[in-house]
Amino acid sequence: MKVGAVPKSEQARRRRLLMDASQPGRVGSTLPDLDVPAARLPPKALLRSDLPLPEVSEPEVVRYFTYLSRLNYGVDSGFYPLGSCTMKYNPKRHEDIARQPGCAQVHPLQPEATVQGALQLMYELQGMLQEVTGLAACTLAPAAGAQGELTGMMVTRAYHLSREDTQRRVVLVPDAAHGTNPASAAMCGFQVATVSSDPRGNVDLGALGRLVTPEVAAIMLTMPNTLGLFDPNILQVCELVHRHGGLVYGDGANMNALLGQVKLGELGFDIVHLNLHKTFSSPHGGGGPGAGPICVSTSLAPFLPSPVVELRDGRYRLATPEHSTGRLSAFSGNFGVLLRAYCYIRTLGEAGLRQASQDAVLNANYIRSLLRTAYHLPYDRTCLHEVVFSASRQRASGVKALDVCKRLIDYGFHPPTMYFPLVVEEALMIEPTETEDKETLDAFIAAMRAIAREADTDPDVVRSAPHDTPNTRLDEARAARQPDLRWRPQA
Ligand SMILES: *Cc1c(COP(=O)(O)O)cnc(C)c1O
Repeated sequence: MKVGAVPKSEQARRRRLLMDASQPGRVGSTLPDLDVPAARLPPKALLRSDLPLPEVSEPEVVRYFTYLSRLNYGVDSGFYPLGSCTMKYNPKRHEDIARQPGCAQVHPLQPEATVQGALQLMYELQGMLQEVTGLAACTLAPAAGAQGELTGMMVTRAYHLSREDTQRRVVLVPDAAHGTNPASAAMCGFQVATVSSDPRGNVDLGALGRLVTPEVAAIMLTMPNTLGLFDPNILQVCELVHRHGGLVYGDGANMNALLGQVKLGELGFDIVHLNLHKTFSSPHGGGGPGAGPICVSTSLAPFLPSPVVELRDGRYRLATPEHSTGRLSAFSGNFGVLLRAYCYIRTLGEAGLRQASQDAVLNANYIRSLLRTAYHLPYDRTCLHEVVFSASRQRASGVKALDVCKRLIDYGFHPPTMYFPLVVEEALMIEPTETEDKETLDAFIAAMRAIAREADTDPDVVRSAPHDTPNTRLDEARAARQPDLRWRPQA
């Protein structure tokens, strides 16, 4: 991204500094003479004769890494409307709390009597998430949304097998589901059958009716779906699947849309996973640690993976449910993420959570209504937390969704999610979240409109963007297939 007012030539020089500006004999530090016996070196065969490390001074090393650190873009540096990822502001107070020794240094092998506070926090968080989802039991063990999905599928399989209902091999997944849904079902050994959407972006009830058979173990519904839409036929969908003995799995990774508005358990969902790192404010750019707890109905509780936290005779303890599917990962899940989610929920309370979702939905609809004249809106109806446009209108001038995204970088914004969901061609999936103010949204809208105008009047400037970044267009296919991650000294 833009680096202050540093001209490009100087940026390039700084970037080269450490790597190629090496001068023989230039050093960052000097070591005192040995005052202990020299340790023996490893065998000669293991030693390299040349190790072409750059020789540079200490200030230049500091400048180099400081320069690199400023190239980062994150929610703390600007608007980050990456659809489906919920890049909201993460309260800094949570970091202070998480850093306290009692939280940061608690050890998973400590005797339970010495970690009652941590267990109480997990126990209460389980209860809060049950409240959010309207379901009866919870495990915090899954380390990410996708692992929560896999957990849900394992619970589904264990449940059917416990009833000797062994022919249920199929999991239904609508085409507007998140891509991890079919992957998780397949990883668990199920066959995936795709349910098409109707022209309004809802599950096609006719198509669903044809696919629900006694072989169906479950349907996996992303709610809201990846078009950012709430399916108004959801009660019928749940009823239809239940009538044939299947379970209803809810991908609640985007619960940011629904907090305090609706409880999926009350609509008929049997299993729901939540992405604590998204909805409940853990920093999660770059794939950092996450948590994907699942909540389930009473009849599925005995199959939850271990551990779950129980309260017995006034003591909190880690327990293994009766017919548990076993362990998913080491110890008790990502405690630091659980802790931040707990802080978030306790800070906002019921009214605050409800307000967060209302504002998230309001912000997405504000963008929707002000950009619909500039970009094609394939599903033109009130959205929830995110809105999906298409850059198909810009295609006439050779501008693709990718180009719009690259050009946004020049305007100082992180691009939205693109080419997802797959049911929308040239998709631009925008999720503003509730933590942005009107001025920021207006600036983003102005940039998106300016890009739409450029696509008409000067498409080349969009197609060759970004212009103001240290690197411009990358050969993305080659970067993925032949990544060049190693610095080599210039000949
Ligand atoms: C992010 C997301 C996932 C996957 O969550 P991870 O924590 O990245 O594994 C699943 N479903 C939906 C709808 C998501 O937005």
